[in-house]
Amino acid sequence: MLRESVCGVEALATLFVSDLHLDASAPAMAALFGQFLSGAARDADALYILGDLFEVWIGDDDADPFRNAICGELRQLTAAGVPCFVMHGNRDFLLGSGFEQRTGCRLIDDPTLIDLYGRRVLLSHGDALCTQDRPYQQLRANVRRPRWQLRFLRLPLSTRLALADSARAGSRRHTGQTAAMIMDVTPTAVISAMQACGVQTLIHGHTHRPDIHGLEVDRLPAQRIVLGAWHEQGSVLRWERHSHALEHYTGGPE
Ligand code: MN
Repeated sequence: MLRESVCGVEALATLFVSDLHLDASAPAMAALFGQFLSGAARDADALYILGDLFEVWIGDDDADPFRNAICGELRQLTAAGVPCFVMHGNRDFLLGSGFEQRTGCRLIDDPTLIDLYGRRVLLSHGDALCTQDRPYQQLRANVRRPRWQLRFLRLPLSTRLALADSARAGSRRHTGQTAAMIMDVTPTAVISAMQACGVQTLIHGHTHRPDIHGLEVDRLPAQRIVLGAWHEQGSVLRWERHSHALEHYTGGPE
C-alpha cells in the first residue's frame, strides 16, 4: 500500500514463475533469470517459483558453482526483503532445508493454498495432475518416499550425478514416446483438486504450455493458469490486486 501511495504508479504485484530448468549448459537463461531477480523481482510483494527452478538438484550438499551462483542471487533477493517461495518440481524435488538456509527462500508443499489479495488460489507444480501418465506417476511415488531419498542422499555426489543423468535420459525417452495429451494435466484431476480446496483459481507449471484456461468448478467460473518454461525467453505471471497477466520476460534495461 505504501509503495502505491508514494510512487503513484507502481502497483503491488506478486510474481509467479516455474520451469526455469536452470543448467550450466544454458548460461543465457541463467543470466536472464539473474537479471529478473535483481530487477523486476525486487519490486514484487513476493516471488513464487513453482517447481523445476533447476534442471537437476542432487542434494543440498552439492557445491556445484553454477547452482551455487543461482543460490547467491536468490539470497540477494530475500536479503532485500522480498519473500521467495519455492515448490519442488519433478527435477529439483530434493531441494531441502540446506537450500532454504543458503537462499533465504522458503519451500512450500505441492499443492499449497494461498490468499492472493483476498482471493483463494491453489498452487501446484502440475506433474501430480498428469494422472494419465501412469509410468511417470509410479516413478514419482517412488522417488518421493523419504526412505528412497535418504538412501539416495547417502550416495557419493558423483554417483548421484550419474544417476540423475541417466534418469534424465530415461525421461527424454519416455516423453518422446508418450502422446502429448497423456503428458498434459487430466481435466478431472484438475477439477477434483480445485473442488477439494474450494478454489476457483489454480496456478501450475510443468507442462510448458503457458495459457489461461477458463473452466467451471462447482458451477462457478474458474481459471487454470499455466506458467511457461524459460526457453528462449522468460515467462512470468504478474498478479496485481485487480488484474493478472502472463508476460514474456526478455530482460532489457531495468
Ligand atoms: Mn516439471
